[in-house]
Amino acid sequence: MAPGTELADLAREAAGCTRCPLAAHRTQVVFGVGDPEADLMFVGEAPGRDEDLRGEPFVGRSGKLLDRLLHEELGVGRERCYIANVVKCRPPDNRDPKADEVAACRPYLEAQLRLIRPKVVVTLGNFSTRLLLGTDLGITKVRGRSYPVGDWHLVPTYHPAAALRSGGVVVAEMRADLIRAKQLVGWG
Ligand code: URA
Repeated sequence: MAPGTELADLAREAAGCTRCPLAAHRTQVVFGVGDPEADLMFVGEAPGRDEDLRGEPFVGRSGKLLDRLLHEELGVGRERCYIANVVKCRPPDNRDPKADEVAACRPYLEAQLRLIRPKVVVTLGNFSTRLLLGTDLGITKVRGRSYPVGDWHLVPTYHPAAALRSGGVVVAEMRADLIRAKQLVGWG
């Protein structure tokens, strides 16, 4: 079966998910968006208010920055990539996802990785980096290089919300991380 078909089936299944308490608070499940055969995948933390309403990851202020950096550093739009989150439902008041919520949602992310088979996964912030790299270290300690994970490369970088908060240096480091991802994908 084509990855797109299996991914669409999985998204339909996830739309009715009640595996964790976040199901009671969401407007809708934010499964993921983009090319089901993308070479480059981004994984964030959890949907915020805008994403919960729109049903698409990274459509608020953080998403605007991500789109801009993608365009400026890689010369591509989000449709060339696949974008998902560790947790597919918005935590109330944008609190951090809890360990049981991450554990309940993890099979969806693992299935997305298995079906999409990206060459490179850019983890945005601590949650996705810690989960996919299997580390307790924070993003500032692990960014600046890539890591082989299975048959793909993991490139850790800051969450765009942190870049929006911190500005100049963090944005510059994010740009450098995206250029690293671009080279690993083979886009330049
Ligand atoms: N922050 C995230 O981690 N993911 C989103 O989709 C939006 C904001």
